[in-house]
Amino acid sequence: MDNENVYLKCIEQKKDTLKQRRAEYGEKLNELARQNSEYSEAVTVLAQIGSALAISTISGDVKNTEKLKVEAIKYSAIKKEIEKRAGIEPFKYECSLCNDTGFSGGKICSCIKKMASEIRIKSVSKSAPISGCRFDTFDLDFYDDSLPDGTNPKKKMTLILKALKEYTLNFNPNLSENMIFFGNTGLGKTHLSLAIMNELIEKGFYVVYDSAFNLFSKIETEHFKNHIDDTYNDALNCDLLIIDDLGSEFLSSYSQSVLYSIINTRILSRKPTIINTNLSIKEIEQKYTPRVSSRIVGEYTPKKFIGTDIRQKKVLRTK
Ligand SMILES: [Zn+2]
Repeated sequence: MDNENVYLKCIEQKKDTLKQRRAEYGEKLNELARQNSEYSEAVTVLAQIGSALAISTISGDVKNTEKLKVEAIKYSAIKKEIEKRAGIEPFKYECSLCNDTGFSGGKICSCIKKMASEIRIKSVSKSAPISGCRFDTFDLDFYDDSLPDGTNPKKKMTLILKALKEYTLNFNPNLSENMIFFGNTGLGKTHLSLAIMNELIEKGFYVVYDSAFNLFSKIETEHFKNHIDDTYNDALNCDLLIIDDLGSEFLSSYSQSVLYSIINTRILSRKPTIINTNLSIKEIEQKYTPRVSSRIVGEYTPKKFIGTDIRQKKVLRTK
């Protein structure tokens, strides 16, 4: 996603949808009024009572006001009863937390966060094959039973798959651990990261997923050119941050400090992060400042992906 404020976009969209749904609902009631004279009479009388009530309230006629209120309740009930008989339910908001305003308790409502996540999925899907990347499409058959070096990639990957499924199943945005996926290209790190993302977004969690390259260039552009920090704040505050392909970003003192600040802030606020990388621990230590690498080594559970490039095997299989 570019620099646009996803939340504002979602709130606007929510408002438009509400407006449209209200109009459609109003049209249903109008249609009922056209067909049912008892109903249209109740609507007309209610409108008259409404005007009379306003005048009566202003003039301070307490007795008449009370009488009109009773009348209003009576005709409202008649109106509702006819609607019910015609199969028209009372108008319902899509989100009962915010009544479709997008704000609940002075904060952005979870329905907007969910919408924002879905927009992000769409934006990620431009550069990654998201929809196909699920746990059940992760094919262990591409991994060898044994390699000349004595390792058993299939066994190892079976355990990793199981652990990641459990991680996703029991995901808690304040308790789940940080993880780092190591391993060469083509071993399924991105596939399983996207599988976690897909499932958690479906469960309503606020997941931010991006490649290190995109993430840091967006943060830098937003900060210096547009003077906003949307992507940065999203990376700090989301339920789960997934940084794909750490090491692909343009390395500068700025990106190093942003990386440290994201990793460190999330650790302090106990928000989980998943990083995947083609770099080894040694290369991370060489490439990044000690405070970055020590945070990663100390606070992230490593998952080592092993095997031979499954992308080549997939190509061979389809030939
Ligand atoms: Zn809501």
